[in-house]
Amino acid sequence: MCGIVGYIGKKDAYPILIKGLKRLEYRGYDSAGVALLNNTNQLNVYKTKGKVADLEAYASEKDISGCIGIAHTRWATHGEPNSTNAHPHIGASGNIALIHNGIIENYAVLKQSLQEKGVQFRSNTDTEVLVQLIDFIKTDKKVDLLTAVRTALKIVIGAYAIAVIDKTNPDVVIAARKSSPLVVGIGEEEFFLGSDASPIIEYTDKVIYLDDEDIVVIDRNKKDVEIVDFNNEKIEHEIVTVELNLAQIEKGGFPHFMLKEIFEQPDCLMDCMRGRINVEANNVTLSAIIDNKEHLINARRIIIIACGTSWHAGLIGKQLIENFCQIPVEVEYASEFRYSNPVINNQDVVIAISQSGETADTLAAIELAKKKGAFIYGICNAIGSSIPRATHTGSYIHVGPEIGVASTKAFTGQVTVLTMFALALGKERGSVSEEEYVRIIQELNNIPEKMKELLKIGDDVKQISRIFTYAHNFLYLGRGFNYPVALEGALKLKEISYIHAEGYPAAEMKHGPIALIDAEMPVVVIATKNALYEKVVSNIQEIKARKARVIAIVSEGDVTVKNMADATIELPQTEECLEPLLASIPLQMLAYYIAICKGKDVDQPRNLAKSVTVE
Ligand code: GLU
Repeated sequence: MCGIVGYIGKKDAYPILIKGLKRLEYRGYDSAGVALLNNTNQLNVYKTKGKVADLEAYASEKDISGCIGIAHTRWATHGEPNSTNAHPHIGASGNIALIHNGIIENYAVLKQSLQEKGVQFRSNTDTEVLVQLIDFIKTDKKVDLLTAVRTALKIVIGAYAIAVIDKTNPDVVIAARKSSPLVVGIGEEEFFLGSDASPIIEYTDKVIYLDDEDIVVIDRNKKDVEIVDFNNEKIEHEIVTVELNLAQIEKGGFPHFMLKEIFEQPDCLMDCMRGRINVEANNVTLSAIIDNKEHLINARRIIIIACGTSWHAGLIGKQLIENFCQIPVEVEYASEFRYSNPVINNQDVVIAISQSGETADTLAAIELAKKKGAFIYGICNAIGSSIPRATHTGSYIHVGPEIGVASTKAFTGQVTVLTMFALALGKERGSVSEEEYVRIIQELNNIPEKMKELLKIGDDVKQISRIFTYAHNFLYLGRGFNYPVALEGALKLKEISYIHAEGYPAAEMKHGPIALIDAEMPVVVIATKNALYEKVVSNIQEIKARKARVIAIVSEGDVTVKNMADATIELPQTEECLEPLLASIPLQMLAYYIAICKGKDVDQPRNLAKSVTVE
């Protein structure tokens, strides 16, 4: 997973490429590079270890002229992050430069066979095999660049979005995709490439989302791009208008995207519910449910597949759907599911959840479930991404681009869509009472306002965070709907502060984790006033008896837990099934401020990338 950008037109390519890379840095940031063709058709390639800012510093004194170029920000899969392994990679002839997002699975065999033919490799990446192969075919078979690219792509196995430039073909960029995203931007006498639309929208809102096995030839002397398949058959593509705007992808005065996205959540949830919840009419409609009633109402079982934060949202979804729809639900890690031999048939519905819509494991799990006859429902954020296109139907969460690597607003958006899904389907099935249906709809509609109030706790959380920065381990406990919130809270802390944290159902503490508890291990407990409140209070007693410090998330006005805990954060009262939407806010903030106190880079935590488009 990495970010790729391309430009071909009449302007200087370099500033456009650098700006584009910065927008894509959430996808990877261990090294970066750029290849430019200058006016005398000289190919200049600059690459360096580190972030895009390091590349800029490195290239500052060099020849960065030229109106055609490709650029890459990397998240290494093969070969350590250093300047040699950074992209672009160059073919043996010195003419061709290539950038790649994905993994070439048969790279070892191909590399050996090319080496036997005398090709010398410079890097340890899988990617270099691809450029050497294209270069070798082009020189050996004396074919044009497109034919060489097509021939090479027929041979390679794996996932890729690539862009190629060739100094002997200076008016053309060729790009292709399979299982990694790629968008072409169509401007006035200029064209753009991006892993998503964010590097493009500043210049044009007209884009083409490429499909798997599409190869696009972009010629700056032509008005239109040409798309062909591996057999050189022409493919027609719709040009779509994207609705992203610049403000949505910039920090808007916040020091980090993560904090901006935490604070955006009330608005995001309103966007997510807009046109779906009607409080006057007391109903919730999801067009995907209306259009596919038969499949959904008669589902024998629902299987939710997801990874990471989306998997936690799925655990909440299970409880919502089982409560309101009375359909059994299983929640699976997509990465495990795809390699299992699941018993699935055409009465099963699979819900696939992914913020980016590009998660490789989730995509593979969808294909498996589809083959077995299941009906697939996607819940994604990125419009036009691969999962919405691979599923039978679905609902977007509409929370706008999420740039912070640690997911926040996408999580609450996913939970909101799952709540609406469970209510709407429960209504269709007659498995939710009218009274409950109306009550939850009314309260769901109140959540954005309550969230706005809750977000005022920022300074309190900052204070609490300072106290707990010392810890090397944290435990997060919650029950019922708040158990997945505990898991998600622990994940947030791990991701951005690098503190080890575990989430557990509170009652499971006694079955092992309690052995770890001592004065050095803070415990975060979600102890809101719901059916299991008394039980959680007992858990807090047990923790305090072992001298650990407790940070408790409590309901407004709580006294009992307040008297026991070392720090408390109050949540507005709400329906039990909606508590995750509120309880996750202080946990996101806690992770954020602890990471800030520890001086960590919250938007770009080490070793992580935003969308996991490789296995
Ligand atoms: N597999 C390639 C590499 O390690 C590309 C990884 C990526 O998508 O960033 O260089």
